[in-house]
Amino acid sequence: MSTKPEDIFKNIVSHCKEYGYIFQSSEIYDGLSAVYDYAQNGAELKKNIREYWWKAMVQLNENIVGIDAAIFMHPTTWKASGHVDAFNDPLIDNKDSKKRYRADVLIEDFVAKIEDKILKEIEKAAKRFENFDETVYRSTNARVIEYQTKINDINLRFKTALNDNNLNEIRQLIIDCEIVCPISGTKNWTDVRQFNLMFSTAIGSVSDEANTIYLRPETAQGIFVNYLNVQKTGRMKLPFGIAQTGKAFRNEIVARQFIFRMREFEQMEMQFFVKPGTEMQWYEHWKNNRLKWHLSLELGKHNYKFHDHIKLAHYANAACDIEFQFPFGFKELEGIHSRTDFDLKQHEQHSGKKLQFFDVEENRSYVPYVVETSVGLDRLFLSILSAAYKEEKLEGGDSRIVLSLPPALAPIKVAVFPLVKKDGLPELAEKIITELKYNFNVSYDEKDTVGKRYRRQDAIGTPFCVTVDHQSLQDNTVTVRNRDTMNQERMPISNLLAYFEEKVSLKSLLKQL
Ligand code: ATP
Repeated sequence: MSTKPEDIFKNIVSHCKEYGYIFQSSEIYDGLSAVYDYAQNGAELKKNIREYWWKAMVQLNENIVGIDAAIFMHPTTWKASGHVDAFNDPLIDNKDSKKRYRADVLIEDFVAKIEDKILKEIEKAAKRFENFDETVYRSTNARVIEYQTKINDINLRFKTALNDNNLNEIRQLIIDCEIVCPISGTKNWTDVRQFNLMFSTAIGSVSDEANTIYLRPETAQGIFVNYLNVQKTGRMKLPFGIAQTGKAFRNEIVARQFIFRMREFEQMEMQFFVKPGTEMQWYEHWKNNRLKWHLSLELGKHNYKFHDHIKLAHYANAACDIEFQFPFGFKELEGIHSRTDFDLKQHEQHSGKKLQFFDVEENRSYVPYVVETSVGLDRLFLSILSAAYKEEKLEGGDSRIVLSLPPALAPIKVAVFPLVKKDGLPELAEKIITELKYNFNVSYDEKDTVGKRYRRQDAIGTPFCVTVDHQSLQDNTVTVRNRDTMNQERMPISNLLAYFEEKVSLKSLLKQL
């Protein structure tokens, strides 16, 4: 068993296919890049995560309601939001291989390679010297200092070029760093140009410009344009929130790392409308609230950290990411942004309609400020799956692969087995399934030895297995086996429903919030 993160990640990806979690989209036609299908177990896990988020946001908060806006929106929405003019990635082509790259990613990868060199130097030195002090080594070793200076120079030039939208300078940086195309090996680069990430299509039968509409690149705008409708019909008072889950589409150029970055993905967003001046207090509130939600999954506190944005978008007055330690490093999982009144004001301007709140206490109307929480459902899925995936060595030289998913999120909660396929045991197993299936997803398995059936359920992540044996026919008890501890206990059949209800229902997670 390899312990290298890149090998483990590869194993997770193949596990997802082998155990019915995720398939490549249209695989029989060799797939479609950065598009994936959720299979029988994946669809259940995804649905359970979505439901946990929805209940935590909408059901537990009296002042948050949920909506389900359409994917297609009036094209002016995206002009107002800034997406038509500024939702871009800088692209560069290699003239020899004809391959296209994100210029920023080429530079970031180049910097990452130098960082790797530093880490290798440190690793070597740590082995060589007793009482090795990394901080001292970093500040005194000539080679490390040289590498670090190079990184700092590149980062500074890159940041300045991005800020100034100076595409020539970005190209020059690629040339100065002598970055070559991984396919052709040459430095024969085109100019850098901006590429809009929105997918467009035409509505109706006439194909002129006026009919161009976009597939939404984020769900948030569906909330902003409905702000007044919801506020009025729901008689909502500030502060209040509107939550929504749904598909978003981005024509990502660098699509890699499995479902981490996809072209069609799902977001779970909540816009919290507040009185101007109180937004920082609510920003802190939602930062803590969302981290608590993630921690309730018990995937390990060390796997999460906040990353505060130093460079803020022009409309934001505070922003941070909750990052998760994926097998390929700490990366953004969720964004929490204080967006001021930018979006509602933009929509006021472009629609000519007032999107305000009448404050009875102050006897005046104003445009509310907004604090947003925005998490990718697919990234959340990947974070849960990668933390849950374990290759374990057992006593006696045996091994197993287990998905230690939070029980409330597992696709199948209980698997029921008859010890043998005769003597009335399958019938009793079916009877137990009938008692449980109105509350949970339950599955039946009678093939192979019980040991093999346990392994299959471990690999799917089923938290409990129930085995019906000959004793069950006499005293109505069964063996309940726990996925994580592998302990077995004997229990009356009549206790099963209440026992599982306590362990695997979403309530067990929601109560921690
Ligand atoms: P990144 O910097 O990784 O591209 P972003 O900052 O553009 O992400 P946001 O626009 O803030 O992301 O979107 C909110 C959330 O939506 C992200 O935190 C992420 O979980 C998810 N998300 C964004 N783009 C994708 C994608 N292409 N595939 C899967 N999830 C995504």
